[in-house]
Amino acid sequence: MRSPAERRNTSAACETLGSFPLATRTKAVVLSRVVTPTTRAKTDRALEDEARVLLEQNASAGIALLAGRAIMFARHEEGELPCLCLNCLDPALDRAESRGLQFVRDFVVSRHRVFFYWVPAELLPDAKQVRASMRGRVKQRLDELRRKIDEPRAGIPARTGPPRINPFTGKLIQ
Ligand SMILES: [Zn+2]
Repeated sequence: MRSPAERRNTSAACETLGSFPLATRTKAVVLSRVVTPTTRAKTDRALEDEARVLLEQNASAGIALLAGRAIMFARHEEGELPCLCLNCLDPALDRAESRGLQFVRDFVVSRHRVFFYWVPAELLPDAKQVRASMRGRVKQRLDELRRKIDEPRAGIPARTGPPRINPFTGKLIQ
């Protein structure tokens, strides 16, 4: 996780880059071709843009592109709206209704994960903000999952207590 100061530095660097002559800018881009959070975000965004265009023309092809290039992140969920996990995702089903409200299917790509979700139709004018917040949720969830994986290595399991002995055999109970 980058500190706010580092983030400021990155955006400052980008702003500075904008005022450089083209040749210098091109060189800077080539030099920075390492997998950093910034280039990863650019790859994610490029895939998202490409898939969004394709989805409008051919939903199956758009979903196939996403599933082939990134990890589908939604888990199966039974609810009032159709599930959008990889198994249930129906290319043709891009609209749904629940309790009189209209929903439209949308998706984001963040940290190499594809996340499909239903957005209330009335929020469509704010789709960009909704997407930004969904990208944030994907990142947050991945951080939570990573912390869970790290937990066993982080310390002693909570159940560790004094060894239990069987009073009849005198042997240790596993
Ligand atoms: Zn499902």
